[in-house]
Amino acid sequence: MRVTGLPPYDPNNVFAKILRAEIPCRKAGENDHALAFHDINPQTPVHVLVIPKGAYVSVADFSATATEAEIAGFWRLVGQVARELGLEGGGYRILSNMGEDGGQEVPHFHVHIFGGRRVGRMVP
Ligand code: C5P
Repeated sequence: MRVTGLPPYDPNNVFAKILRAEIPCRKAGENDHALAFHDINPQTPVHVLVIPKGAYVSVADFSATATEAEIAGFWRLVGQVARELGLEGGGYRILSNMGEDGGQEVPHFHVHIFGGRRVGRMVP
């Protein structure tokens, strides 16, 4: 489903292709509802992306229309991957860009996990 104001979901976006295994990724974890993989252009020693398997453009439609099972599966994988990659001791940052003003480049909802070093203060 689509929330007014969002672009329609583009089934040919790069993360949709990763989900269909048309483009390779270095997998970091997976469950029924979400996939985690290492960012191709890491900004920190550990930089992982977590994406829902469903067709959601951003946090806007994901939060409004995903099922509770999808939302739970997604967030459980975020925490599980960070734990399995050993980030819980030092800590990490999660971030999601939304839309043009948020600097979102890939129109499939995703959360970045940054860790492995101390990251700077968040300045917009
Ligand atoms: O949040 P935003 O949309 O700007 O981030 C997209 C992210 O997807 C970038 O960090 C980019 O390096 C990553 N990416 C990737 N694999 C691709 C294409 C983009 O990890 N094949």
